[in-house]
Amino acid sequence: MKLKKSKVMKSKTKISLANELTSEIDYYLKKLFPLCRSLTGEKNRITLKILQEIIPLDIFEIESGKKVFDWEIPKEWNIKEAFIADKNGKKIIDFRNSNLHVINYSQPIDANFSWSELKSKLYTHDKIDDAIPYRTSYYKEDWGFCLSKKQYKDLSNSDGPFRVLINSNLSNGSLSLGEYILKGTSDKEILISSYFCHPSMANDSLSGVLLSCFLAKYISKKKNRRWNYRFIFVPETIGAISYCYLNEKRLKNIDVGLVITTVGGKGKFSYKQSWQNNHWINFLIEQNFKSLNEEYITYPFDINGSDERQYSSQGFRINVGSICKDKYYEYPEYHSSKDNLDFVKARQIRKSYEIYVSLIESLESLTFYKNTKPNCEVMLSKYDLYPKLGGGFNQTNTIYTSTDIILWLLFLCDGEVPIEKISYDLNIDQSILNETIKKLIKANLLKKL
Ligand code: ZN
Repeated sequence: MKLKKSKVMKSKTKISLANELTSEIDYYLKKLFPLCRSLTGEKNRITLKILQEIIPLDIFEIESGKKVFDWEIPKEWNIKEAFIADKNGKKIIDFRNSNLHVINYSQPIDANFSWSELKSKLYTHDKIDDAIPYRTSYYKEDWGFCLSKKQYKDLSNSDGPFRVLINSNLSNGSLSLGEYILKGTSDKEILISSYFCHPSMANDSLSGVLLSCFLAKYISKKKNRRWNYRFIFVPETIGAISYCYLNEKRLKNIDVGLVITTVGGKGKFSYKQSWQNNHWINFLIEQNFKSLNEEYITYPFDINGSDERQYSSQGFRINVGSICKDKYYEYPEYHSSKDNLDFVKARQIRKSYEIYVSLIESLESLTFYKNTKPNCEVMLSKYDLYPKLGGGFNQTNTIYTSTDIILWLLFLCDGEVPIEKISYDLNIDQSILNETIKKLIKANLLKKL
């Protein structure tokens, strides 16, 4: 009876903790959604400061004009107001109603236009009539407005000339980055990156930023962590490139990474594989989905996508995976005003959070062994490991002899691939491998990392 009671108590606590987390996510989702973020600007700083309420991340600034590899930090962009008004001064399109109305990084302008002049500066959504598309013009000085098809029609039926005002500012400033490092007991390190440059869209990229923060909070409370965790919050592309530039040496030694984005949709879970599809991070993500009995879609690595493009580039070559819930590109609301708080709910982000938490727990339980004599094969007979070890491995149901298992372990245990993946690839149960591992450790041929 007592046991049952404590079980009930435990599940109640679990439910209330989950509810608490959902309402916290909901609070920050609503607080951060309205901010007009971009590559740079005050709203980015405010966003990072709000995230500091969740985790004590450090904020870094990189000056406009600074060269970062082949790129340059752009001027800082800030915007106060923008509208298109008809000849009577009635605002037909107003930035205050949606910050997607203005092309992100639009130059300032205050001028009158006829309809035929204005319409080349207007953009509507290809497929959804009442959606405002999300457009940017980061590296080409330009301006423009995005609007729904209905708004476009209303505008075309209004009387011009139209007054166009964009009260924005492009000047020397800086680009803001966030970083939160959690030390572990080993020298293994994982990079966990999310981008916060999108204005009012909830799945892309706010859901990823929030999940990342709450995941960092979860890990920070975990005692005896083995892995080092490097959480970074960057504007997509230029922010990731800047971070790689500033941390080149460190990043070259990172084992594995995750880009957390689009994790709050209503649809299915999916994951994008890292650039080497046989890498253990892909194995781990799939095993995790299977152990949780969750259905998922697999997307192979593609050269398009998010910041894994930078972290996996030739200079860094980090294997970076992404678990998503309604992956970018794949949902109709993507990059539009329909990617909003009706589409994304805190409980959906929490579901993805649980998948990531479970992945981190699996990551923490991985075991790595390293061959202490990696240069050519060792002389097994010297260690009394050849060929007498026969027998005792019949339960493997595999074609491997005991000597094969020794040779495979010495061949594959390079400190980079966990034994869980080696066991899977060899199709030999880990408990059987462990018997041989014990012998190899005793002979000082293998060490546990
Ligand atoms: Zn995007």
